[in-house]
Amino acid sequence: MRLILLGPPGAGKGTQAEKLSAYLGVPRVSTGDILRHNVAENTDLGKKAKSFMDSGKLVPDDLVIAMTERRLKEPDAKKGFILDGFPRTIAQAEALSKLTKIDSVVSLFLEPEELIKRNTGRRVCPKDDTVYHIFMNPPKRPGLCDKCGTSLIIRADDKEEVVRKRIETYEKQTAPLIKYYRDRGMLREVYASGLIEEIFQRTIEALKA
Ligand code: AMP
Repeated sequence: MRLILLGPPGAGKGTQAEKLSAYLGVPRVSTGDILRHNVAENTDLGKKAKSFMDSGKLVPDDLVIAMTERRLKEPDAKKGFILDGFPRTIAQAEALSKLTKIDSVVSLFLEPEELIKRNTGRRVCPKDDTVYHIFMNPPKRPGLCDKCGTSLIIRADDKEEVVRKRIETYEKQTAPLIKYYRDRGMLREVYASGLIEEIFQRTIEALKA
């Protein structure tokens, strides 16, 4: 299964991608996570990407396309993958179509007010990237990762002004992909409100349809 997950920041893409990855037995490929690791390790790519990420803008296409191409060539992605956060522009979608066949595109959608609420409650583990939410998916012990006990953090790009910019960036640059994939008969739309498990079941149903 080669899958793309689309959705605005806060729609729960990362959480659903993790669940789908376990269910389908294919890796989740999150371009945001790969970029954040590059920033943390101060690689050449990380140095180039940091200022774009910190201000809620997209990292330039050429950098992200080359990075994703490298990742999809790794052995674990041979049997399939779930792309979380890529493509984010028409140019990226075109590049991806030359690289590999995609079976399905799931687009998660949600009301704008709900998006802001979701974004401000997100906490992540800086060590293993596990994502929590203070209301919807709290850790067992407040502020600590269930898996490794590390103190959870608020991502730099989850600050309110950056969140607003990221939603605006999504509307301008990424939302056109919904039409792009609908026109190609690949799109499945999933309402992303409710419990994580409910949204997951809707996603599975949408993939079977
Ligand atoms: P995410 O964790 O997917 O929300 O990504 C966090 C940030 O990484 C985004 O706000 C962008 O700055 C950058 N990023 C992730 N994926 C892409 C992509 N496909 N194209 C451009 N920038 C990206």
